[in-house]
Amino acid sequence: MANPSPEWRAPYTSLSEDIFYARVSPQPLLNPRWVDVNQALVSQLNCGMDFDQQDILNAFSGGRPLHYWQPLAQVYSGHQFGQWAGQLGDGRGLYLGVSSGYEWHLKGAGHTPYSRFGDGRSVLRSAIREYLGSEYLHALGIPTTRALAVVASDTPVQRETTETGATLMRLAKSHLRIGHFEHFYHRHSHQHLREIAEFAIEQLDPDLSGAPDRMEVAFTRYVERSAKLVACWMAVGFVHGVMNTDNTALSGETLDYGPYGFIMDYRQDYVINHTDQAGRYAFGQQPRVMHWNLACLAETLTPFVDVETLGQILNDFPAQYHQAFRSEMARRLAIEPENEQLPELIESIQKLWGLAGMHYPEVFAHLLDDSFVGLSETSGVDQSLDELRHLWSKETSPDLLNLARSQSPSWILSHWLLDRVIQHAERGDDEPVRSLRQSMSDGLMNPSETAALLGGSPPEANSSYHLSCSS
Ligand code: AMP
Ligand code: MG
Repeated sequence: MANPSPEWRAPYTSLSEDIFYARVSPQPLLNPRWVDVNQALVSQLNCGMDFDQQDILNAFSGGRPLHYWQPLAQVYSGHQFGQWAGQLGDGRGLYLGVSSGYEWHLKGAGHTPYSRFGDGRSVLRSAIREYLGSEYLHALGIPTTRALAVVASDTPVQRETTETGATLMRLAKSHLRIGHFEHFYHRHSHQHLREIAEFAIEQLDPDLSGAPDRMEVAFTRYVERSAKLVACWMAVGFVHGVMNTDNTALSGETLDYGPYGFIMDYRQDYVINHTDQAGRYAFGQQPRVMHWNLACLAETLTPFVDVETLGQILNDFPAQYHQAFRSEMARRLAIEPENEQLPELIESIQKLWGLAGMHYPEVFAHLLDDSFVGLSETSGVDQSLDELRHLWSKETSPDLLNLARSQSPSWILSHWLLDRVIQHAERGDDEPVRSLRQSMSDGLMNPSETAALLGGSPPEANSSYHLSCSS
């Protein structure tokens, strides 16, 4: 039985088929079953879907699409690890349209014309990593794509070993990437480039539509949003892992969760992605890489904006990043951004991060939550922590404490917690996934039983942890 058709639009189809996208029929997974449906997000969306209905499960697992969906794969190009990679595109994900203010995108639903040598599938492990990772960043108050549901299946999918296929329903304000602009710029298709740039403005910055300097101002906003996003990541120790230009959204949302992670010991040179041998995407490199990605974007706008203006906007990035980092730290610490002691406080925190014994994201919880016990052995840093607390308590503003506390995690999505939750799901036990997602919906300041049980004891030698891109 079809659901009541929600308000559903597909603005991307206003662009020309076969130039900007290809229409694609999803391919079904075998014996699909829900791993989890993100009920908090479902309620927020008010999308009118009954997740007990078989047609919804079928549609979410690559079976017959709902009649109002318009599945299509978008084409884009990109720079990967600093090298021009040429045409890429949605190789295993489909845009479905826009509803409730979000673009819906089904990841893992089979081949598209842009799959190249890939199978168009996502394995269960990577679907769960993205599902929990994106909802965790959202709970931390960081701009990100959202995750609505994960479906598991019996479809075999070959990676280093044989795994099983899964789908993830991802929601974003926009899936436009720097790579969308690069695609047309590097093919010298300036008319199509103009169309996609105007489309981006209509979708993301509609207040600029028709303004004579809209391309320039839109670029300024891309720079601002990207500076803010990286500042948010750097304040909580998030490493994206594959900051290629095709994984960088114009909306300033965290996009494409592959080998991401949270650094536990503070190390600027921490590399999570083992294919990244040169350390291009190391934790401390992220602001610089975002600046580099924005330079690629600036180049694509040279047909419309003079080079000098683009250069000036681009040169503002480092200052904007530093300002955004200070504001983000102030927000997390419940301190007024203009507070004169803020730089000194940040410096003390950075010193504390550098000391062995404390996991990076725990510093905020140690300050904001009296009952926080923590994962790490803090005995070696007790004195520094006391000094920091003393300094901080004089500056903190009671009006800002509630918000800061609500976004201060009392538990961490560590790599070992994720691994253990995935192992359960691969054995058919989805309860830990559901329980962690529920804890994220309830707010990270509340303790999570599952996080305590499965994430409470770190394995030995976790600092050598690496992930591959294979997903
Ligand atoms: P990523 O590194 O995941 O951002 O992927 C880079 C490019 O490879 C994108 O165009 C993806 O759509 C494509 N891709 C990744 N995995 C697969 C897969 N299993 N099948 C088809 N295309 C894929
Ligand atoms: Mg990608």
